[in-house]
Amino acid sequence: MKLRLHRYDDDIIKDLGLAFAFTNSERNALGCPKKWHFIYREELSSKRTSGAFAWGIAWHMLMEDLFNYWKEYDKVIYYNDPFFDSCFEKIEQYLEEEEIDPEEVLPDMRIALEGYLHRFGDIFSQFKVLEVEVPLRYPISDFKGRPFKTHLYLDEYEDRLEIAQTLSDNMIDVTMPFWVVGRADAIVQSRVTKEIFVFDHKTTGSINRFLSTCEVDPQLNSYACMLEWEKKHGSLQQYKHNKIGGIIYGMTSSGSTSLPKKLKNGTFSKAKSNKTPSWLYKKTVGDDESYSEHIMNLYDKVDMLWHCREWYPVDINSIKRWKMESYGIARRLGDMYRILALFKNSDTWVTPRVPICKTTGYCQFKQICISDNELMRSYFKKEKRIYWSK
Ligand code: SF4
Repeated sequence: MKLRLHRYDDDIIKDLGLAFAFTNSERNALGCPKKWHFIYREELSSKRTSGAFAWGIAWHMLMEDLFNYWKEYDKVIYYNDPFFDSCFEKIEQYLEEEEIDPEEVLPDMRIALEGYLHRFGDIFSQFKVLEVEVPLRYPISDFKGRPFKTHLYLDEYEDRLEIAQTLSDNMIDVTMPFWVVGRADAIVQSRVTKEIFVFDHKTTGSINRFLSTCEVDPQLNSYACMLEWEKKHGSLQQYKHNKIGGIIYGMTSSGSTSLPKKLKNGTFSKAKSNKTPSWLYKKTVGDDESYSEHIMNLYDKVDMLWHCREWYPVDINSIKRWKMESYGIARRLGDMYRILALFKNSDTWVTPRVPICKTTGYCQFKQICISDNELMRSYFKKEKRIYWSK
């Protein structure tokens, strides 16, 4: 029997077999039980991809190609290299499929790529790319370090097993181990210390806002634990002698950049309020020395609003806490999936929470959360999250 997990079509995940696996996304969705219910119990997802989400996916596609290039050739590449033509074609096709006008995305993305390579294209001074798009696993264990297993009710069909939605004749009771799984955008190695790092691409509307919240991001410790496990027991044993340094977040703003303003006297504005990044400013003014100091200022103070790289070291105490929390999350998920199969009327799970919800504006389920009716539900599709088959 193979584990079939949404977005994880990797052999090492499928080969977990009759096991339950959850991701950081499922863990985060538990912050609102109603949202978790919509995604993981009812298996709903929005039919329309938001512009910000599509930008993030497109940027990941571009970075995947770029990091694969670095992995293979380990040399500098410029933003206007023909190598990127096929990447942008793939992105254009993806955006068209999502019914998003490529012209609203691609020009900004080309400028973002130029800035990214301007700031971080010098890979030789820092790290070497070892792996790209790597699935990672970690088996949940209890307080005594014993593998955690619990039972779930599954519906048995001819060709597959699914989480039971309600009491039925084909329901079976199966005890299974629990795993956390994730995907590292890349694994990179410091050229100086030889330590290895998980590299994660992030896109955000505001890098400053992202930086103020990511220290508590459970992804930091989950990546470290999963990488450690893969190194010792799993698919990355070729790196077993390399110490894990931590996580690197490569953050990119999805915002639009503006060119420097031309003043009436023919010069370009040096106003601080104008957030033109240095590479665009330089491109506009050319080699005119009178702007050199201003360009250096922009490099120091403005460029990081568009591209920023943060290194987070691994902290042993946080990792221990994450392991215990994950054990708690696994137990809670087991209980929830079981109770919901026995609980005839799951409406209680979807009673309005909006009065206490602080994130309504950002939640993709806000329409059906506020007014749950057929019309609102027509904006969502069903997407199988987890099942088991041959
Ligand atoms: S709108 Fe708020 S209460 Fe409703 S599902 Fe989303 S996060 Fe939960």
